[in-house]
Amino acid sequence: MNSVFANLPTTVFETMSRLAREHGAVNLGQGFPDDPGPEDVRAAAAEAVLNGWNQYPPMMGTPELRHAVARHYAHWQGIDLDPNAEIMVTSGATEALAGALLALIEPGDEVVLFQPLYDAYLPLVQRAGGVPRLVRLTPPHWWLTEEALADAFTPRTRLVLFNNPHNPTGRVFEADELELLADFCRRSGAVLVSDEVWEHVVFDGRRHVSVLSLPGMRGRAVKIGSAGKIFGMTGWKVGFVCAAPELMRALSKAHQFLTFTTPPSLQQAVAYGLGKQDGWFEAMRAGLQRSRDRLEAGLSALGLPVLPTAGTYFINMDIAPLETGLDDEAFCRLLVERHGVAAIPVSAFYAQAPVRNVVRFCFAKADATLDAALSRLAAVAEPFRHVSAP
Ligand code: PMP
Ligand code: GLN
Repeated sequence: MNSVFANLPTTVFETMSRLAREHGAVNLGQGFPDDPGPEDVRAAAAEAVLNGWNQYPPMMGTPELRHAVARHYAHWQGIDLDPNAEIMVTSGATEALAGALLALIEPGDEVVLFQPLYDAYLPLVQRAGGVPRLVRLTPPHWWLTEEALADAFTPRTRLVLFNNPHNPTGRVFEADELELLADFCRRSGAVLVSDEVWEHVVFDGRRHVSVLSLPGMRGRAVKIGSAGKIFGMTGWKVGFVCAAPELMRALSKAHQFLTFTTPPSLQQAVAYGLGKQDGWFEAMRAGLQRSRDRLEAGLSALGLPVLPTAGTYFINMDIAPLETGLDDEAFCRLLVERHGVAAIPVSAFYAQAPVRNVVRFCFAKADATLDAALSRLAAVAEPFRHVSAP
């Protein structure tokens, strides 16, 4: 057996969803909406299954979807992409990430990563033979600093695996942080692989800035997106990779032997969905922002301290001021087993020196679900109320 995978535990998302089912808990752990997703996009998929092409589509993705991705990113992010040479469709962002690592590094190459990190990153880097160099971000601000980057980059740095908007912190990195990172990449010659699956889920009037639009990065950056996140249908597993033709040639060789293609019916539906009116995307964002505000206000009213969230489906709670004597994992266990609310301990996103006082909740839920969770959390908050609300 391969040593990277043989000893890995089951992902924290799977574990917490299982505990939520066992304890009849409100599941604010694993990140998925409880809304079924836009009906017209689902209808387009159904129509394509019944009346469309169900054999292998082109390896790079259907022309309709590649053109739709190019139009979508030109419109929303001002990026000019050639749909015939710079866009590839994958089976979710996860395949895109795996393929990028397999295609772009050699064993022994150093890869800069930022923790807390999405749990798939580290095993994928290690399996590709990469040597991880971890930049540690810490609450409450999770800022990217020049000192931390200077420590992580070495003459052997070949690739940087970045995530913006960031899961699990809910951070949307600022222009000066992105510029700093791009500067390190340009100076070291590293390729910047940017997981931008949360690009549409940004709040308070923010606009997503892709690494592809940063000066000097067009030829050395790989942008990864996911229809699962854009349309709130996380099971769909349709991803997009955008990169300059030279990088794309290598990326496509990895893709051809990982999955080769992605179901054509879903590609057609996503192509349709990406062309929806601006108002749909704005309403989706506004709805999620209202849910964020509802959960944030509810937690704060209970005296449970929250950290600010600028994007994604997630909001974090700092448990340190509660002085429970529990770390995040024990706290999440108590929440799900005794109080019937599932959350994710953020220490699970660290490979080294974990932060142990932050707990992540998913707010992409109906009001009734959030309210049910809040009424259960009231019992958790009660004994600690004196601490934050004297
Ligand atoms: N990257 C990040 C940062 C994510 O949060 C997720 C899913 N939550 C993924 C990748 C996986 O995306 P997909 O389901 O398209 O593989
Ligand atoms: N990305 C989702 C989250 O962060 C979970 C994905 C998964 O279950 N692998 O909650």
